[in-house]
Amino acid sequence: MNANCFDIGMIQAFLDGELTHDESTRVSGHVATCDACAVMLAVAEEESALVFPALEREFNTLVPTQRLWNKINDSIETERGNRSIFSKAWAFLAVALANPTFAAAASVLIVIGISAAVLLNRAPEQPTVAEVVGLKTTVSTSANKYPGRRRCR
Ligand SMILES: [Zn+2]
Repeated sequence: MNANCFDIGMIQAFLDGELTHDESTRVSGHVATCDACAVMLAVAEEESALVFPALEREFNTLVPTQRLWNKINDSIETERGNRSIFSKAWAFLAVALANPTFAAAASVLIVIGISAAVLLNRAPEQPTVAEVVGLKTTVSTSANKYPGRRRCR
């Protein structure tokens, strides 16, 4: 140790590359001729080698593990599954209508649907199943339920 020796802060800064070119030239020149500073540099270097893996471990614990990611993805899937069919359909429609081709196709489908509805309404009315059954019941009730009584009168 002598008056020209650097303190540990300077050595650390030298290791971290935080010194100016002149300063680091001075440090490396001095270390080459001073055992005390060479030892200090060696120790500091060794400590850095120990510190970086520790920092790396610390950093890795901050990174979500694969298990955590799976958990997040699962909850996203669940969230999606919980959305109602309507909101899904609405989302689909919103995306689809943004596409001009699909919007045109959808308009054509709507026009066809309206035309079909109009044509069906114009078609001559046919008795529904319920009406046919009701009619038969009425006939059987009046004609066959009390056949004898009618004949009597
Ligand atoms: Zn020294």
